Amino acid sequence: MNSGAYSRKERVTPITLAVPAIPEASGFTSSPPPTDVLVRLESVGKCFANGVVALTGVNLDVRRGEFLSLLGPSGCGKSTILRLLSSLTSATNGGINWQQKNPELGFVFQEPTLMPWANVFDNVWLPLRLTGVSRNSARARVEEALANVGLTGFEKAYPRELSGGMKMRVSIARALVMRPAVLLMDEPFAALDEITRSKLNDDLVALKCALGATVVFVTHSVYESVYLSDRIVVMAPRPGRVVAEIVVPSPLPRGEDFRLCAEYADKCRATSLALHEAMALDGAGDTRLREGVR
Ligand code: ADP
Repeated sequence: MNSGAYSRKERVTPITLAVPAIPEASGFTSSPPPTDVLVRLESVGKCFANGVVALTGVNLDVRRGEFLSLLGPSGCGKSTILRLLSSLTSATNGGINWQQKNPELGFVFQEPTLMPWANVFDNVWLPLRLTGVSRNSARARVEEALANVGLTGFEKAYPRELSGGMKMRVSIARALVMRPAVLLMDEPFAALDEITRSKLNDDLVALKCALGATVVFVTHSVYESVYLSDRIVVMAPRPGRVVAEIVVPSPLPRGEDFRLCAEYADKCRATSLALHEAMALDGAGDTRLREGVR
């Protein structure tokens, strides 16, 4: 336990989030691989009231400025980790220690969860509105968030008038309007077609680099995790636990060429292997951390 650590008791912005995008990846350069810890999970366990042990013995550092993916089969506790980080639920065992007091968090869900009766501006304004910021006072920040996701000019559009990818961009803008230091993203692109997903992947990384944010990203996709991440944590189910870690050293943003390079192929192979090994574990509590493939 780090004596300088904070545990979050209060708030997660009741709002939440969305996922980003912003195109022009060019021009952004990645900072050196981050090493300082932003939040540390120490021996974290979570047992729900119905007796389900969702997590056991999870030791995990999230480093400031990194893109970290949580990869694993359904039910291994990925979403539970995001919910623990955002204080939407509490750990049964262990500690979650933030090295920074109350960093702003943005939470992006798989569904955009927009208000259908409100236009794009009002959907993005919502988090600020809930903290008492008037429409006029919010205007500059809403417009900034929409610009960040490439939706300038769509302020008056309603969700029904937008494509799936655009709705997700609005959802991201809604998270960004709070200027979060940390984006927690729970399979935000899972419901999108491959072309839209690929575009949003690039835009997300560009935005993350531009804003210097930390991202914790849940996914089922080996390929998506390797393309996006500085580091991938592989989890096993029953009970949920961390069993492998794969580092992808190539700096962000990466671009299409990365998908053709040997490093991408190697990391996809290693991640896929780690995932298969994780799924083969029998749930008897094998908590080995496979020092992965660097
Ligand atoms: P993942 O995100 O990896 O699919 P989850 O974190 O959603 O996994 O769930 C982990 C386990 O905890 C699952 O077995 C799930 O059914 C269970 N679980 C999640 N939330 C609750 C809850 N509120 N009450 C009871 N069990 C839950």
